[in-house]
Amino acid sequence: MKIAVVGTGYVGLVLGACFAENGNDLICVDKDEAKIATLEAGGMPIYEPGLSELVGRNHEEERLSFTTDLSEAVRASDIVFIAVGTPPGEDGSADLQHVLDVARDVGRAMTKYMVIVDKSTVPVGTAKKVHATIAGETTKPFSVVSNPEFLKQGAAIEDFMKPDRVVIGIEGDDSRAADIMRELYGPFTRTGAPILMMDSASAELCKYAANSMLAARISFMNEMANVCELAGANVDHVRKAIGADRRIGSSFLFPGVGYGGSCFSKDVKALIKSSADRGYAFRILEAVEEVNERQKSRIVCKMESHFTDLVGRTIAIWGLAFKPRTDDMREAPAIAIIEHLLALGANVRAYDPEATSAARRLFGDRITLCEKSYDALAGADALAIVTEWNEFREPDFSRMRELMRGPVVFDGRNIYSPEHMRALGFTYVSIGR
Ligand code: NAD
Repeated sequence: MKIAVVGTGYVGLVLGACFAENGNDLICVDKDEAKIATLEAGGMPIYEPGLSELVGRNHEEERLSFTTDLSEAVRASDIVFIAVGTPPGEDGSADLQHVLDVARDVGRAMTKYMVIVDKSTVPVGTAKKVHATIAGETTKPFSVVSNPEFLKQGAAIEDFMKPDRVVIGIEGDDSRAADIMRELYGPFTRTGAPILMMDSASAELCKYAANSMLAARISFMNEMANVCELAGANVDHVRKAIGADRRIGSSFLFPGVGYGGSCFSKDVKALIKSSADRGYAFRILEAVEEVNERQKSRIVCKMESHFTDLVGRTIAIWGLAFKPRTDDMREAPAIAIIEHLLALGANVRAYDPEATSAARRLFGDRITLCEKSYDALAGADALAIVTEWNEFREPDFSRMRELMRGPVVFDGRNIYSPEHMRALGFTYVSIGR
């Protein structure tokens, strides 16, 4: 099939590369000229494992191309995916400006029947707005579909190629669009993953429901960890015991420094707001967000109570991206933690395998960004583990002790064993243990 993807970010580029990999002809559109120039020159604007190879191969085999010219891409395609950002507005609602701008431009450029698929995460009612916007620009026939995306950064290709399910919400009664979408996703669901067909409003809510449920599990476990600390219990035992219950399951039960990323907080806030707009107060989600904000400051509070005063202390940070295997620092807990440390007068030396450029854009020279993990430890009074990259799991502990001024580790991701760390002579503080 001939497909245009508008918005070549973490979602749009993965989608473009994966559809091209299955033999479709893809044109990725973005208004960011530098991004398109980088891709055309064979470079990558983002880090996502395996993506560079996939994009490179499909670009070389001429199934995947890049442009800033939306009209040209629309005219060459039968299906258009909208995969632009939907950032939170000041009141928490999802800002639909980019989505509706694209809908308008697609409407103006269309020359024949098209399916316009909304991939961006958008509140209930957006498919109708997209439909109305396009209808205001064209007399050509078209279909609008809501197709929320569930990929995880860091494992995006695997998630897209082998989804747990594909959700397709059809706007109106439109069997033609349903057939096209079934055919498009056929190759991705051969392993038996369901294609769930539904109305557009339900599809739009699916994505918010999934992210909100996951965020709720994290906040629940963070509160559980805090109670474990007060009660002298170990959250690891509690986590394993409840995770073994098949009704609960063991995923997403790890306490830490709070969730981050461009989606969880934004989507929880958007669901709270769109519920409120319909007269419903979504109390659980209000607490989920509040707990998450509080959790981000807990590790710094632990440092404060250990050192009494952080003025002039040097704190090493391992991990800046919001999760391992990405360079993305959007809403990363590391941002709140570092700002808090700087406000208390501490010096920060930080290292991340992929997020150094993102951190430089955020902090400039207010912190020292190190090229290697051990460089960050030089003269540090303490180390804080903020993102659980694999390379931090088995470090050379004696080298760490030699480099640090004090052998103190605040582990925001519980990646080491407390007994082992104490046996090695570290003062070790983790979450809920
Ligand atoms: P992103 O910021 O990485 O990419 C969005 C891209 O859209 C940018 O490159 C931007 O320049 C481009 N853009 C904006 N307006 C445009 C326009 N008018 N014309 C052409 N290009 C335009 O965002 P993302 O992380 O890929 O997320 C996109 C959407 O997908 C969001 O709604 C998000 O909530 C959702 N989503 C994201 C993830 C994720 O893991 N990142 C997962 C599932 C769903």
